[in-house]
Amino acid sequence: MIMKNKTILLNNRPTGKPQLSDFKFSDEKKPEITEGEILLKTKFVSVDPYLRGRMRDAESYVEPFKLDEPITSGCIAEVIKSKNKSFNKGDFVLGSLDWKEYQTSKGSELLKVDEKIAPLSAYLGVLGMTGLTAYFGLTEIGKPKKGETIVVSGAAGAVGSVVGQIGKILGCRVIGIAGTDEKVAMLKSKFGFDEGINYNTAKDISKEIADFCPDGVDIYFDNVGGDISDDVHANINRFGRIVVCGAISTYNETKVPTGPRVQGFLIKKSVLMQGFTVGNYNEKFPEGTKQLSKWLNEEKLTYSETIVEGFEDIPQAFIHLFEGKNKGKMIVKV
Ligand code: NDP
Repeated sequence: MIMKNKTILLNNRPTGKPQLSDFKFSDEKKPEITEGEILLKTKFVSVDPYLRGRMRDAESYVEPFKLDEPITSGCIAEVIKSKNKSFNKGDFVLGSLDWKEYQTSKGSELLKVDEKIAPLSAYLGVLGMTGLTAYFGLTEIGKPKKGETIVVSGAAGAVGSVVGQIGKILGCRVIGIAGTDEKVAMLKSKFGFDEGINYNTAKDISKEIADFCPDGVDIYFDNVGGDISDDVHANINRFGRIVVCGAISTYNETKVPTGPRVQGFLIKKSVLMQGFTVGNYNEKFPEGTKQLSKWLNEEKLTYSETIVEGFEDIPQAFIHLFEGKNKGKMIVKV
């Protein structure tokens, strides 16, 4: 009997919002391992907004995906066969892997993860790429000082929910912006934000920010870009810091969006606006993971996950990111 190996390929480069038809399923043969290799069974797949950028045929900090080839993202997999002495059957690993049920690897780019320390899915979120993004973006660029005010957009998502909590741990006032009343309630009840704004129902976001931030905004951690960010910029303080982490509101735009120019207020208020990718802090990842784990163990930090079940639902889970269907980290359990 030939075992099938479901694989998800990029069928089209999406125009605007990704569609299910931009993805294609294929049944490949389950691979065999040779000396030095391991056979992996995919357990958890991370779907992330940045994958949208890789679906474009454009130069970026990561290679674009190729048409008719598997999509890759952060995944947790189980070693089910090993001819590599560094890995045993039953080990769990984290790595950038193909959207396939089974695949082989030489193991060089994989990190072993331990289910006894944290649930496996947490290595894709709070203890993984998105947690580290929150930690380094806020501490290295935002440089929060006790008593300062932080505004976070995309606040109920994987990165934003961790940013807000770190802000509170460091003694700041934190205001989050998210897309539903339920998410705003969760910001306050679960993550300890001081206030929240629903950008879909707020009549005047800029005014709500001004009302919630009587001393102005010292740090803006931006996950969404676009109009929401223009409204936060209008409230930024002198010597404020704008951490440009993401711009999800623009990822599906077909033309480069225009808006208010930023130079005027950056100059007048001596504001720092800095973009980054988490990979910039590669060498400090162990330090970041250690700190996040410590806060988790001390119950100063918590996290939410939206876990979708089933390999077939990976493309839909990815599309749902652009519809705000997730609270916290969006993950597919295979
Ligand atoms: P999230 O978990 O935040 O999921 C995406 C969320 O974005 C949705 O739930 C939705 O929440 C919100 N959203 C979707 N469309 C819009 C829109 N048009 N306007 C405003 N909000 C929208 O994703 P992540 O936490 O993984 O990522 C957050 C941001 O950080 C992304 O922009 C991502 O690209 C970026 N990022 C950057 C990294 C870096 O190294 N610089 C690394 C990781 C992520 P809602 O219901 O509130 O609208």
